[in-house]
Amino acid sequence: MPDQEGGRREQALRRCQQEYQALKAQMDGLGYILQGSLRERWMQCGKQACRCYTDPGARHGPYYQWSWAEGGKTRSIYLDADQAELCREWIGNHRELERLLKRMRTVSLRAARLKQIDRKGVRRKCGK
Ligand SMILES: [Zn+2]
Repeated sequence: MPDQEGGRREQALRRCQQEYQALKAQMDGLGYILQGSLRERWMQCGKQACRCYTDPGARHGPYYQWSWAEGGKTRSIYLDADQAELCREWIGNHRELERLLKRMRTVSLRAARLKQIDRKGVRRKCGK
């Protein structure tokens, strides 16, 4: 039954739209985004008299190192605890954004298929 099939397709498209709206709403709530990664590092100070010289558990830190790619180069910088907290949050936002974007692509592809955009719509006019 073509009508039933059409109805099911309309319903599926509405679900796509709802899902898509919900993803956009989540995206709207996201704060600033940062790329890269944040590492906690524990360092030796280099003084032989210091406990860190022999005991790895006595190393100093944590030091927070943020690394990111910019203009084809990897850059990195040390942050204090407050900066690191913000950095961690914004990196988390970026990952969340990537996750949402991936889901939006998936829903969009489903919608494209329901609207049969993935099928050939125009026959090539041949010169035969
Ligand atoms: Zn030390």
